[in-house]
Amino acid sequence: MSKIRDISLAPSGERKIAWARRYMPLLQGIEEDFRKTKPLEGLKISLSVHMEAKTAYLCRVLEAGGAEMHVTGCNPLSTQDDVAAALAAGGMDVSAWRGATEEEYEDHLMTALSAGPNIVIDDGGDLAGLLHTKMRHLLPGVIGGCEETTTGLNRLRAMAREGALEYPVIAVNDARCKYLFDNRYGTGQSVWDGINRTTNLIVAGKCVVVAGYGWCGKGIAMRAKGFGARVIVTEIDPVKALEARMDGFDVMPMSVAASLGDLFITATGCCDVITKEHFPKLKDGAILCNAGHFNVEVDVKFLEEHAVEKYDARPNIRGCRLVNGKTIFVLAEGRLVNLASGDGHPAEIMDMSFAIQALSARYLAQHRDSLPKSETGARGVVLPVPKEIDEDVAHRKLRAWNIRIDTLTPLQQEYLDGWEH
Ligand code: NAD
Ligand code: SAH
Repeated sequence: MSKIRDISLAPSGERKIAWARRYMPLLQGIEEDFRKTKPLEGLKISLSVHMEAKTAYLCRVLEAGGAEMHVTGCNPLSTQDDVAAALAAGGMDVSAWRGATEEEYEDHLMTALSAGPNIVIDDGGDLAGLLHTKMRHLLPGVIGGCEETTTGLNRLRAMAREGALEYPVIAVNDARCKYLFDNRYGTGQSVWDGINRTTNLIVAGKCVVVAGYGWCGKGIAMRAKGFGARVIVTEIDPVKALEARMDGFDVMPMSVAASLGDLFITATGCCDVITKEHFPKLKDGAILCNAGHFNVEVDVKFLEEHAVEKYDARPNIRGCRLVNGKTIFVLAEGRLVNLASGDGHPAEIMDMSFAIQALSARYLAQHRDSLPKSETGARGVVLPVPKEIDEDVAHRKLRAWNIRIDTLTPLQQEYLDGWEH
């Protein structure tokens, strides 16, 4: 029995899925293929990914491949109740609602796992975390997993280093067709969509502070510049800091940027990026939001506990007046602003990311008895997406956009492979 908010919302969710599907030709092709070949027949998949329209379509593609799907969200605020209802109305096992408490959120994850998955699809590593702690009895049945995001992979690699990881995981995030497009152009667009629709303010002329100049930060900063903002980048990596400077941005520590910014966006995957050290320095009316993992980059808890006055300024905007009289605004409770206060990345971007997910799940199923092991012979390793899958997705995308490219001639190949010239 699904755990969702309201099944009567299904028609609205179905319309959203149909709209997204139209712009996801790669997944459409994979769906057609999966329907014929059934590569996932007899397998149970537990999936925890932002429960919105593009994810719903991925779930249907995996189901078309023969999988029995048990699905939930990966963030308490990103679930769209109408989409969850549409999947449940179609007979899928769904446990997710928007605004779940921490206990409800964990219950939803555990429900998605309780069927005993053979393949685990995670975004942030929450299913893996539960499988390795409270639900260890299910580990022997797991063939492998796929991880969608940077922070999830950091967590899983830490587990593998300590010998704690018990099944192989494919690093979907690290495929070139994922991070180069999803993290950079996807985040670059959807973060601004989330901020702009939530605040309804102008970006041009503002001082925007971007914390972290990784793939997400690069996309966010690039688009801020396009909107006409003055952009400051904060970093801890000296090379990324230089890159930001040569891309034309000011670079400085957060302790200095704090008093200059009008709008702050964190995208580091790290904790305590904007904290009580910085709050007193912020301008009156400064806006804070997060595009990185969970709600730990901005210390929202401290703000909430120490504000002398708190109020909801607009939907998804919390105003906190500090003892110094200044008011700070926090978007979407400091959770991913593009998904908690928007629809996340566009369909054409998720088409690539989720094509990699679907093909990686098929790879796990097809190679279940011969997946590479660690140097010590352990099953728990983080594996790259096979190069053939990454390149296949790039070729499919080029075909979908009607773009042709050159092919090496045998002579060119020989030249590139040789050294006597
Ligand atoms: P990345 O590793 O490419 O970049 C992170 C950057 O942050 C690095 O350059 C690092 O040096 C820097 N950094 C780390 N700690 C810092 C600190 N305290 N102050 C300043 N800079 C710091 O990672 P990424 O792919 O850009 O992802 C960043 C985060 O966003 C991750 O948590 C990831 O899971 C998440 N993510 C979110 C979305 C989304 O839809 N909002 C999409 C993809 C990834
Ligand atoms: N679960 C964590 C992890 C960060 S989510 C959290 O909620 O804090 C970051 C991931 O969300 C990215 O890797 C991206 O691929 C994914 N994402 C972005 N837009 C999405 C969308 N519209 N639908 C599904 N997933 C999306």
